[in-house]
Amino acid sequence: MLNSKPLIKELKKNLSPENVLSTVEECYAYAQDAANSRRIKNIPDAVVFVRTVEDVQRVVMNARKYKIPIICRGAGTNVVGACRVEHGGIILNFSKMNKILEINRENMTARVQPGVVLGDLQKAVEEIGLFYPPDPSNLKVSTIGGSIAQASGGAKTFKYGSTKDYVLDLQVVMADGRILRTGSNTVKNATGYNLSTLFVGSEGTLGIVTEAVLKLIPKPEAEKVLMAYFDSVESAVQAVNMIIEQKVFPATIDFMDKNAIQTVEKFYPAGLLCDKECALVIEVDGFKSSIDYQQKIIEDILYKCNAADIQCSHNQEEYERIWTARRSSMGACAKLKPNVTTDDVIVPRENLAKLVRGINKICEKHNLTACLVGHVGDGSVHPQIPIDYSDEDEYKRYKLAKSEIYDLTARLGGIISGEHGIGAEKREYISKVVNNVAIDYMRKIKSTFDPDNILNPYKIF
Ligand SMILES: Cc1cc2nc3c(=O)[nH]c(=O)nc-3n(C[C@H](O)[C@H](O)[C@H](O)COP(=O)(O)OP(=O)(O)OC[C@H]3O[C@@H](n4cnc5c(N)ncnc54)[C@H](O)[C@@H]3O)c2cc1C
Repeated sequence: MLNSKPLIKELKKNLSPENVLSTVEECYAYAQDAANSRRIKNIPDAVVFVRTVEDVQRVVMNARKYKIPIICRGAGTNVVGACRVEHGGIILNFSKMNKILEINRENMTARVQPGVVLGDLQKAVEEIGLFYPPDPSNLKVSTIGGSIAQASGGAKTFKYGSTKDYVLDLQVVMADGRILRTGSNTVKNATGYNLSTLFVGSEGTLGIVTEAVLKLIPKPEAEKVLMAYFDSVESAVQAVNMIIEQKVFPATIDFMDKNAIQTVEKFYPAGLLCDKECALVIEVDGFKSSIDYQQKIIEDILYKCNAADIQCSHNQEEYERIWTARRSSMGACAKLKPNVTTDDVIVPRENLAKLVRGINKICEKHNLTACLVGHVGDGSVHPQIPIDYSDEDEYKRYKLAKSEIYDLTARLGGIISGEHGIGAEKREYISKVVNNVAIDYMRKIKSTFDPDNILNPYKIF
């Protein structure tokens, strides 16, 4: 924007000065997100803290007047540049709009503001025996608004589904300032188009979520986690398939390869076995009386598939230790080089072993280290690649590898995001997996909802 002074003056008048940041230093801190882009090319004109839906409407009116982008921001932990500021604009910061408005035991629903931290909601509902399953690994910081906008999943998607399965109704401020309700406070809704689902995964490009009604389910009485080690990826994948064929239904079947295990153990020692090729992290849950039974069936399968060793949680401390190790993989990987990238590709489960092997081959070819983790029960793999952005040659090799990984994923019938979204980082690749007619309709939806293109413009496509 050429001159943002009048806009900032109006924002300060409309929202009170302490809720508007506008110095270069303040704005620089919000120029990017956990995607950790190589270069910061642009910074926001202002960062605005909102507390109410009326605050949001005021900001939208200002943005419309000045035709300036609005980029919503929860905790900024998305890993695809979805909050990246590419054309200036206003960062709409939801960290002060973070109230759990209601937990309704009878309806089994929660009504929340978008800035509520996901882990805080989980804790609050679990205190009364209820459960909100979506659990991205960074749930201690990421927000409900961000997880709705990115269609977040997590380890428990395998059994319980992802964010989209829990959104019953959203209050959304549209680009023209009007308020839309997408659904209803009921567990079923066959009344017209499913607008809630349209907003889930829309990355802040269609509207601004100011309230969400979320479905809750009963909290399982007990849980236990097993960590099974294998000397080959093929054996691990065979175990995944065999577990799925049996009548047990684990909450989670996650994966760590040798590099991921060794890197986590190096920086956050947790007693992991570093000489094994890979490990499955399997959580079983349900009635207390069923846990040992489920464990026995799963262990039998694991040993049949040549598991080299199995660790298992006997108490809360051991349970947390295994999960902390799995969740620390990106943090640990980030310590190997000045920068780290993470990706999110997903294929039909039958092609999982080919995907894992293929990613390793591509990374070897380009002389890159990859730590592979993933929610393999869903067919999803997160290659985490440590990199030094100042090394031009390494960056070039990384870009080639990334594109080849997407080509491989497409050949295996998969897609280039199962839960992280597309943002700015992956938009140039979306046509590898999404048909042109579908992209054309997505563009039409965008221009119907946001004709002036002020809501997080040019993200996704
Ligand atoms: C270490 C690490 C581990 C992760 N593990 C997982 C994982 O296991 N599974 C998984 O699915 N993801 C994972 N992620 C990704 C991340 O958790 C999600 O993208 C996250 O839910 C984003 O939440 P946020 O509050 O940080 O959103 P932000 O990054 O702030 O925003 C994300 C998007 O939401 C939009 N947005 C934010 N609030 C609103 C709103 N109120 N209305 C409209 N749009 C809005 C933003 O504009 C942006 O497009 C991980 C990320 C990290 C860093």
